Amino acid sequence: MKFYLDEGIVLKGSDFGEGHRLLTIITKELGKIKAVAYGAKKVKSKKRGALLEFSRTNIYLRQSNDYFIVEQAEGREYFPNLYGNKELLDAAGQIAWLTDRFWPLGQLNPKLYNWVLYSLRLLNSGVWPRIVLRNFELKLLAFTGFRPITTHCAVCRKPYRGEVWYFGAGEGGIVCPSCRPEEGIYFEIFPEVVKGMNALLLASPEKLPELLLDERVVDRVRTILEYFLGYQIGEPIRLI
Ligand SMILES: [Zn+2]
Repeated sequence: MKFYLDEGIVLKGSDFGEGHRLLTIITKELGKIKAVAYGAKKVKSKKRGALLEFSRTNIYLRQSNDYFIVEQAEGREYFPNLYGNKELLDAAGQIAWLTDRFWPLGQLNPKLYNWVLYSLRLLNSGVWPRIVLRNFELKLLAFTGFRPITTHCAVCRKPYRGEVWYFGAGEGGIVCPSCRPEEGIYFEIFPEVVKGMNALLLASPEKLPELLLDERVVDRVRTILEYFLGYQIGEPIRLI
């Protein structure tokens, strides 16, 4: 039997049996795992608060065949503002859902782990949720191998110089007018949208609150990402 001490964030949980929880957790050293927490729903259980969705927790795990058992959990960082506000809770839920869809079980992804943590902190501290979400979605794509091409045509590699171009999900980024096929779904994009997308893609967590972006630009980025993320997982999705 193997024991581990790791740091993790609970993405989702469901009840089963008498007061037990089945959890999907992203961790620093074991990657994404599924774990069982026996008795986690009991009022006196120490695990109860520590294993709340979105909290950052030290977890003592025991591996049993193909799943993990939570032996102990000790909360390290909580985001209390998320639970009292529907908009913030929905935003955190969207981050968790997308992370779960794009991060395969058992795989390590420390960069994505950190970005989930930064994004929850930013939401909790009152940064405009739509900015936090768009930044997160672009980072998620970048850290899972789908970083959108935004500096040159994804087909002929011609550098982008601020014209009206198109975004193609299959091409993985922006496409110049001569490379755009007649058929298929392409989003017209303007220089300020490409600029906004690059700013969101490159922003560090410290700089994100200072980013000044027009609401229409952020909305256009949302429409494009909604289609692009859905394309990658093979089903249409709705983003907040
Ligand atoms: Zn081209």
